[in-house]
Amino acid sequence: MKPNIFVRDRRIYCGRPNSRNTVGWGQLPGNLLGWTCYWWNARQHMVEADMRLDPGTRTVLRYPPNCRNKFDLQSLATHEWGHAYGLLHPPRGHARLTMARLLPPCSKAPRTLGLGDWRGMRKLYGLR
Ligand SMILES: [Zn+2]
Repeated sequence: MKPNIFVRDRRIYCGRPNSRNTVGWGQLPGNLLGWTCYWWNARQHMVEADMRLDPGTRTVLRYPPNCRNKFDLQSLATHEWGHAYGLLHPPRGHARLTMARLLPPCSKAPRTLGLGDWRGMRKLYGLR
């Protein structure tokens, strides 16, 4: 099963919810590396999330020597899972957070949540 995410005329569309959380590969427009769609029910509970990751060569499992313009797959997945859990991009000025709009190249730092990311999760889910 593929993610319920479509690209048409360089625009991304989220399909209808199908009760399955799905992660998969698929080309994305522009410089996008990942995209997550999520759906809410009438009670404002998230009921489903699908994630599409671009299969291009910019995303890697291991950085090459003299790394330039490569992005860590695990960091990308952490960011997209943040969306699946309901986190949004923070406002400008928070570029070091995992949920920042732009993933830093050649860095593994976004593999884990920053303090602001963690505070967002705490706001959504409380302390556990
Ligand atoms: Zn994002």
